[in-house]
Formats: sequence, C-alpha cells, structure tokens
Amino acid sequence: MEKLKIGILGATGVVGQNYIKLLIGHPWFQIADIAASPRSAGKTYEEAVKEKWQMPMLIPEEVKNLIVRDVQDYESIPKDLSFVFSAIVMPTKDQIKEVEFKYAKMGIPVISNNSAHRWTPDVPMIMGEINHAHVNVIPIQQKNRGFEKGFVAVKPNCSLQSYLTAIYALEEAGYKIDKLIITTLQAVSGAGYPGVPSLDVVDNVVPYIGGEEEKTEQEPHKILGKIGDDGIVNDNSIQISSTCTRVPVTDGHLASVNIKFKDKIPSKEEILKIWNEFKSLPQELDLPYAPIHPIIYLDNIDRPQPKKDRDNDKGMAVTVGRLREDNVFDYKFVALSHNTVRGAAGGSILTAEILKSKGFIK
Ligand code: NAP
Repeated sequence: MEKLKIGILGATGVVGQNYIKLLIGHPWFQIADIAASPRSAGKTYEEAVKEKWQMPMLIPEEVKNLIVRDVQDYESIPKDLSFVFSAIVMPTKDQIKEVEFKYAKMGIPVISNNSAHRWTPDVPMIMGEINHAHVNVIPIQQKNRGFEKGFVAVKPNCSLQSYLTAIYALEEAGYKIDKLIITTLQAVSGAGYPGVPSLDVVDNVVPYIGGEEEKTEQEPHKILGKIGDDGIVNDNSIQISSTCTRVPVTDGHLASVNIKFKDKIPSKEEILKIWNEFKSLPQELDLPYAPIHPIIYLDNIDRPQPKKDRDNDKGMAVTVGRLREDNVFDYKFVALSHNTVRGAAGGSILTAEILKSKGFIK
C-alpha cells in the first residue's frame, strides 16, 4: 500500500518530536511536511530542533533535512498532503482556531492536540476506544462551515487519559457512575519544552497546573456525549472533582481515583473482569497504534509506576492497579498513561488510523 503523505504543525515542540519518533516506520503514514513558528521556518528540521531535541534517539534521517515551513505560510503547503497533525502553541486560542480552520477550509484534515477547538460543538474530541463514533459529526462540521474535504478533529487533555477508559469500561458494562474524585500527579513533559523551571520542580510538588482541573472535570462530558443535530451534546451525568499537581517525573501522568456508583455496585472481581476483557473498535480493526489490551491491570501492591509502566504496549495502554474498597465512596484505584504518547501524539495517530479506516482521510 502506498503511504499517505502527512504534515506535522508544531513539529519542533515536545509533542511534535513525539510524532516524529512514533511515525518513523508507520505502515500507513509518511512524514512529508514539517512546520513550526517563523523562528524555525527556512531551517532544516535538524537545525531548527537540535538544541531542544528530547527524544531518546538521534534525529531520524528521514526528516532531518526537510525544510521547516512557517505554519501560516499557506501558499507553501504541499498539494499532496492527506492530512496534518497539529501541535502548535500560539499566543491565543483564537489564533490556533483560525489556523486549524484555515487548513480545513483548504481541504486538509487537521488532527489537533490543542485545546483551542475542544469545545467547538461540531469538532469531535476523540479517545479511540471510547467515542470513535463521534467521527460521524464530521459531515455536520463540513456542512456548517462549508468545508469540502477538510475538517478538524481533536484529542482531549492528557490528564484524563489515565482514568477515563477504565471509567468508560464500567459504564459500558452497565455500572453507571455518579461521582468521581481525581487527584493527578502529572509529569513535567506535559508542560512542553523548556516547560517548568527545574528549581520549581526538582525536590518538589507543585499543587497547581493552570486550566488543568477544569479540563479534567469537563472534557469527559463531551467525550461521553452523543451526536445531536448541530454537534456533540454533552453527557453531564458523572460529577467530577479534581486536583491536578505537577511532580518531578519526566513522562507519565498518574491519577488516584475514587468512584461512587449510581445504584448497581459491581464486585471487585466484576470490575477486574470488565477491565481485563475491555476491547473496542481499534482492537477489532487491529489498527497499527491500537494497544492489544487498552487497560492493563497489575496486581502488584505498588503499581502502576510512571518509570516502570508508562511504556506498556508502545505507551498506548492505560495501566491500572490498587483497586480497593473506599470508606467514603465505593472503590478507589490508581491509573497511569504516557502523557506524550497515549495522551498526545500516539492518541492522535490512533485517531488518524480510525479516520482512515472509516474513509474520512484518503
Ligand atoms: P512546545 O514544546 O512548546 O512546542 C510548541 C510548538 O509550537 C513548536 O513547534 C513551536 O515552534 C510552535 N510554535 C510556537 N509559536 C508558534 C507560532 N507563532 N506559529 C506557529 N507555530 C508556533 O509545546 P508541546 O508540549 O509540544 O505542546 C503542543 C500542544 O500540544 C499544546 O497545545 C499542548 O497543550 C498540547 N499537548 C501537550 C501535551 C504534552 O504532554 N506535552 C499533551 C497533550 C497536549 P518553534 O520551535 O519554531 O518555536
């Protein structure tokens, strides 16, 4: 099969570099275009990124001599791009919204890591195993906005990726959830590069990440929603309260979760069976970036741990442990996901694979 030519907007950032790492050797997609800010434009990728390259490998040969484009130099977009991943940071969300819709208007689908369009009702916010059916809102978006082939699809915030699949699996099995209390311990790579100053985070925990608690509490409502006439209609049936903290870990967001069910309460054995057997469309289609087991439960008393478990199944699995009864709610557990893989580049690659399988990108 001939590979689809794809672009990366924001290719020089932390998430952009993860795309490079994960896409080298991808069976369906080939990196053909790289774009970043005007500071990097005109340089080779190697020149633009070499002072801030964070991946545990050399800059791949396949991309190091590509010339970086300015994201907003629309004339220079190669004509044969199938779609772009977006991982840009700009001064305002409105600027990002405008750039992403401009690509869509030009016929180029955009799969974005950015929060700018997460609350645009006709833009799907996809977590592959949970709401893959939300891609069917794309024709509504195209009609609403006069896009012919292009569209924008986004990925949710990395903080909720660790716990939401485990919660969704229980809801799908008929155990409706009433309330969740979440405390996240989030890795420094989540703040991009150079990110949090070392003097703030080494030997420390920072009990605040701007905007993160709102995203952790609100984005699940859209992800668990249904498609209505004009876009996604949120499902607000789970009440969520969160505290998000930054900890001195490189990669891997951990979450401590307390659950209260609405009426039926499963036994511990039932919960473990549901998690162990959980599979969804990405696994049924055997997509290249689908984890074999989306939820891995470890019964060691002290797992999951970021250093030991973040890379489970290509960094795409959620690793869960410490399921136990809770004195105040019904149960509590600990969950982990790799923030720059599952929570960012890898999660978006899986979305692109779903979109290709369903014929939205060609
Ligand atoms: P980052 O390391 O700061 O990278 C930012 C990227 O945006 C760079 O490629 C930069 O290019 C580019 N950029 C900056 N100003 C620009 C401009 N005016 N026009 C066009 N491009 C511009 O950030 P990141 O951590 O990769 O995050 C990227 C996005 O993903 C953010 O929206 C973030 O919230 C989201 N995200 C991050 C994570 C994570 O774990 N890090 C997880 C999920 C989602 P230059 O190199 O040329 O400046």
